Parts: sequence; C-alpha cells; structure tokens
Amino acid sequence: MSAFSSAQTVLVTVLFILTGAGLVALFILIVLHDRIKRRYQKDASTLASIYESIPDLLFCIDTDNRYTSCNRSFLEAVGRTEAEVIGKTPFDIHKDREVASDFVESDNQAMRENRLTTHIGWLTYPDGSVKLLETIKNPIVQDGVVTGLLGISRDITLHRQVEDAARASSDFKSLFLAHMSHEIRTPINVVMGMTELVMRRKIPPELYESMLEIKNASENLFQIINDVLDFSKIEAGKLEIVVNEYSFSSFIHDIVTICRVKIAEKTLFFLVNADSAIPERLIGDDVRLKQIVLNILYNAIKYTQDGYVSLAVSCELENNTANLVFEVSDSGIGIKEDELNTIFNDFVRVDHLKNKSIGGTGLGLSISKNLCQLMGGDISVDSKYGVGSRFVVKVPQIFTDYAPYTRVEDAQDKSILVYEQRLMYADSIMRSIENLGTRATLVKTQKQFFRELELQNYKYLFVASFLYENVKDNLDKIPPDARVVLLSETGDHTVELGVARMDMPVYALPIANILNHVESAFGRADQRYAAFTAPQARVLLVDDASTNLKVAEGLMQPYYMQIDACKSGFDALTLVQQNRYDIIFMDHMMPEMDGIETTAKIRAFDNEYCANVPIIALTANAVVGMREMFLSNGMDDLLTKPIEVPKLNAVLEKWIPREKRMRFITNDKSARSVSLSIDGVDVKAGISMTGGSIENYLDTLSIFKKDMLEKMPAIRQCTLRGDWKLYGTYIHAVRGVTAIIGARAMSEKAREL
Ligand code: ADP
Repeated sequence: MSAFSSAQTVLVTVLFILTGAGLVALFILIVLHDRIKRRYQKDASTLASIYESIPDLLFCIDTDNRYTSCNRSFLEAVGRTEAEVIGKTPFDIHKDREVASDFVESDNQAMRENRLTTHIGWLTYPDGSVKLLETIKNPIVQDGVVTGLLGISRDITLHRQVEDAARASSDFKSLFLAHMSHEIRTPINVVMGMTELVMRRKIPPELYESMLEIKNASENLFQIINDVLDFSKIEAGKLEIVVNEYSFSSFIHDIVTICRVKIAEKTLFFLVNADSAIPERLIGDDVRLKQIVLNILYNAIKYTQDGYVSLAVSCELENNTANLVFEVSDSGIGIKEDELNTIFNDFVRVDHLKNKSIGGTGLGLSISKNLCQLMGGDISVDSKYGVGSRFVVKVPQIFTDYAPYTRVEDAQDKSILVYEQRLMYADSIMRSIENLGTRATLVKTQKQFFRELELQNYKYLFVASFLYENVKDNLDKIPPDARVVLLSETGDHTVELGVARMDMPVYALPIANILNHVESAFGRADQRYAAFTAPQARVLLVDDASTNLKVAEGLMQPYYMQIDACKSGFDALTLVQQNRYDIIFMDHMMPEMDGIETTAKIRAFDNEYCANVPIIALTANAVVGMREMFLSNGMDDLLTKPIEVPKLNAVLEKWIPREKRMRFITNDKSARSVSLSIDGVDVKAGISMTGGSIENYLDTLSIFKKDMLEKMPAIRQCTLRGDWKLYGTYIHAVRGVTAIIGARAMSEKAREL
C-alpha cells in the first residue's frame, strides 16, 4: 500500500467507516487500474516515439495487404501522409505498379509460409533519389493464425556501393595480375628455350654450369608466374576445369618421368605404386590433376633431405566414377600440428626457420586445394613434425568402358626373382608385382640368388643394377631362357647384351610392359643398343614434355640421325612444312592439339610427302586396342614409353629407308679390346660403325683422310667465293662421315655450320 499517498489513506479510512469494505475494495481496483494504465501509456508512448524516430521504415499490414500502421520514415519514403496510407494497399501508395506488385508478392509469401523473409528492392523517393531497401518481413501470429505482417526496411544503397567498389577493385587486381603474368610468360619462354638450345651444344663446362643456373632460375620464375596466373584466375572466379578423355597410363608415366629427373638431384628413395585396376580411359581435367599431384610431389621432394618420397595411387570404382586417391608421403621436415590448418591458405609458408633456404611462394597448396575442390575432390594432410608428412588428394573421374590401365597377360605363369638389397625399393617392387597377380621371390644376397635359381625355374630376373656385377661373374649359372632385367638408377646407361632395363622407380606399368613384350625386348640376340647408324636420316620428335624429348633424343643419339624436336602439334606442323623427315615420332597426349589431331592436319597437307611420311605414335599406353586406334587415325606404327632400345631399333629399322641405314655391330671383341686412341675421336664407336673390325676402321680412316685432302681446297674455295649452297652440301657430307669415324665433336661442329 506504500503506493498510496497520505490523503488517499485518510480517505480510504473514512470511506471504510462510512460505506463498508466492498466499496473500499472497488476503489482500490480503480486506483490500481489507473496506475497500470498510466504506466502502460508511458511505455507505449516511449515505444511510439522510438517507432516514429527510427530511420528504418516500419510498417504493419493485414492479410488483405492494407497498411494498419507505419512510422514517419515510411511516410517520408513514400511521400504520403498517414491518412493516405492507413487502410490502403501498396498499389494505392506506389506509383510504380511493378514495385507495388513486387512488395505485395513478397508480403504474401511471408504470410503464406509464416516465416521471416528478406526482400531486396529499389524504391524511388519523393525527391527523385533511388535507394536500395532490404526489408525483413515478420508475420504477426495471433492464436496460431497469421493476422498480418510487420516489415522493417533498411537503406542498403551505400553498403552495396562499397561492396561493388571492393569487388571491382579486386577484379581489377586479378585482371592486372592475369595480364601481367601472361605477358611475362612469353619472354621467359624465350629465355628457357634459348638456354636449352645453348646447353645442347658442346660448350665449356664452366659455361654449362652458368647456363644450368639460368635454366633453373627461369624454370622457377616460370613456375611462380604460372602460380600467380592461376591464383588471379581463382580470385576472379575464372579458373575453369577443362574436361576431356585421357589415358591414365600416359598420365602416370609423365608424372613419374618428371619426378624421376627432379628427385635425381637428391639422394632420396622414390617409390611408386599405382594400382593396376585403375581404368585406362578416364574423363576429367588431366592437365589440372597433373598440376596438383606434381605440386604435392615437388613439395615432398623440396621439404625432404633424407629418406624417401612415395606416391601411391589407388581407386574405388562406383558406377561410372573412379574415385582416384593419390597419397604422397615423405620423410621430410614435417609440419607442426598448429600450422597444419593454415598451409592451404594463400601465401602461407610455415616454419620459416627451417624453410628459409627453400624457395616458394606459399601459393601452390592453396591453388591445388581450389583446383581439387573445383573438380569435386579435396586434399587433406597429416604430418608429424620432424618425421614426415602425408598428403592425400581425392578426385572423382568418370570412365565409360572399363579396362585397367595395365595388366600382365598370363600373369600366373610368370615367375620373377627379384635381387634387391634396399628394403624400401624391394618392398615397393614386390607390392607392384603382387598387385599385377604375378609371383615373385625376393633375395638379398648373391648366394641366395643363385640358390633360388637352382631351386626354381624363374622366367625373369629383376636385378638392382648396382648388384649386377655379382650376377655377371656367374652368367653361366643363369638358365638360358631366363630374362635379366636391370633395375637402373637415373643417369645409369649401362647397356648389356640381351639385358633389358627398367628405370627406378618401377611400378605396375613398366613391369607389365616388360612382362608382356618379352619377345620384342629379348627375342633377338643381335638387338642391341643401336643396330645401325643413319646419319642421312632426318627425324622429328613431338612431345610436350621436355623430359620425354630429352630421353628420346638421348636414346636416338647413337643412331647419328638428324633429330629435330618440338613441344607442340602447332610447331610440328610448321617443321613438317619446312623439312623433309624420314620419320616422325608423335606423342599422343598433348595439350591444345593432341597427336591424333596433329597427324590428321599433316595428312591433310596436299602433297605426297605429307601423305606418306611415317608417323609413329609415342604412348605410355600398351593396352590392347591402342595400336588399331592409332593406325585408324593415320599413324603408321606405335612405340611405347618408356622407350626400350630393342623396340626403337625395330621401329627405325622398319621405317628408315634401307639406303639410309648403315650396319654396325657393338659387341665385337675387337671394338672392346682396341688400344688405338685418337684425340677427339671415339675409336670404339668408330670401329662399331664401320663394321666392327679394326681393319675395316683403319681402312675407313685412310679413305676419310684421302677424301678430306681432296675436298678441303674445294670447301675453302666455296668460302672465298661465297658459294654457301655448295659449302652447305660439302659440310653436310663432312658431318656424316665424321660421325661414322667417331669424330663426334667435329661432326657436331659441322652440324652447327
Ligand atoms: P611453397 O611455395 O612455400 O612450397 P605451398 O603452398 O606449396 O607453398 O606450401 C605451403 C607451405 O606448406 C610450405 O611453405 C611449407 O611450409 C609447407 N609444406 C608443404 N608441403 C610440405 C611437406 N611435404 N613437408 C613439409 N612442409 C610442407
């Protein structure tokens, strides 16, 4: 009762005495009601003043879309008085019917669905200004029934303008980056190309070192530019996934070849296992997928000093989808747990102390993750600091007709004895062989090796090349039908009669190729390093991977042919029109214009030479049916990658015209035991190329001398007269004969001239 004043208390007492308790109770009720009403009115007026003064537009409508109330901001926005609004619909107060109908529609939707909805639309104010309003519409519910709607509209024009400006500036930045990186790529390409050309020449070792540095630096720069270009494309949302059909065997072969070269700079084990069940024909963006896997592998190589880097590829088949899983593990520096989540962010490089001597931009993983997600996959990582890391890339690819990328014919009948002491390699090889469904036994000592040979009839002997000495001393103990295959390191070009080679790391594809092509690889004892020379023959190599080109050129060097190499179908078309080739080796999978398209374009040139020049498909795909596919597309033959010398011999022998081939025998005893030495001349090669006997060689030398003595004055005359055409013809001949006698440097000089 403290709420009553003293006058009221006195009055109550008098009244209580005069009229009784009932009347008093009624009075109390009236007084209380009065107070409640006053209090309520005070709250209501506070609310009303907020309602009025708020800059947002507030309004209520009923279910017939008639306004039941609105605030001052609303009236100002529509340029009406309260009387002109209350009881009216949006059609009555907005001149623009489209605007009104838009409002009504969204109001009705919010009431119909009885949920909070947001509507964004333009409104023209009475002063002519146009504003963007964001309206939140909240249905009013009484006794479970929607009776109307409360709307709150806010002016977001400025907000949107700021957003647009930010987006425009970011777009501009991305566009600028894209243009710049594109422009920079062109001159860098020239630097890289010219460096490559100079390095192919005979140059002094110190110059070679400097060129190597230019080459490495420009390749790094090229990589950075490519990353920046990709980054800017991702930022601008312009990076697209280009889907096409590709061959998994080519894909994995290229990855292994590229990394094999990269890893050779370090003393690391490189282990590869690629499940032979992965489909050969896949549909997806192989170029981008290769970029992701190579990026992760490069990192593994970069951040690992000792131990190993391994790549394991597996897949799960689900209807027409092959869910590929690439697992890259290393025994490198590892990543701290709290930094694991950040490494996929833009420009993030972690552990600066350890990393400071290792180059990088911190863009690679962020780009890879983005690309991966664009392809419907993802990348994850787990790592132990100081122990190593494991990155897992998962990407779904489509396949239509299932055929595995590699398999061994009659796998059960092929028994292999593996002689390898290095546990990691041994383990990896055994796993790949098992995966192919073939039997193998592993031995680690010479004693075990020969004992096993006595116990069982092995068809294939896989021997680590550094252990071959142990085998070579007892060749007589090897059964005549057993095939020796050397597991060789990069850069090891040991060539042994009747011995095949597989470059480490070996995995399902090269193993199956060896096991499937037994006869062509070993069949003829006289199929050796180079069965002949062909200095007059002209060859064109087309492959987009420079490493593949280098390997092929290296393998063809002993044939002394004139080799041109180019990295795209477009360049091939130009070269084919400029020169007359005896044979063209054409890679199948190349970006933009692939081998099949290039062949079709060559065949379409209207001349007899282009219609007939032998085109040999280079492919890592030894799958049945491929040969027919190439032949039906205008090619003449097929050579599988990695190129094996016996097969190369067979192809060259078949397609290089007979008159351009010159026989020689490499295994002649006299070639090995000769003690003759001439400065600047590879006598052994000379003897081989002139038939294998020292007598023949000496004869050739004297003919060469006589010939040169006669031709020298004529050549000199040409230079004096400026008759460069005849000079060219003479020098061309010098080039051929000097090559035959083993004077390589001179032959090379003549080629340059
Ligand atoms: P970077 O160009 O620096 O290599 P990335 O985006 O490819 O950029 O990688 C981001 C960071 O993640 C690297 O700077 C490195 O700190 C860390 N990282 C990536 N891969 C490995 C790895 N295999 N081992 C250890 N650290 C790694």
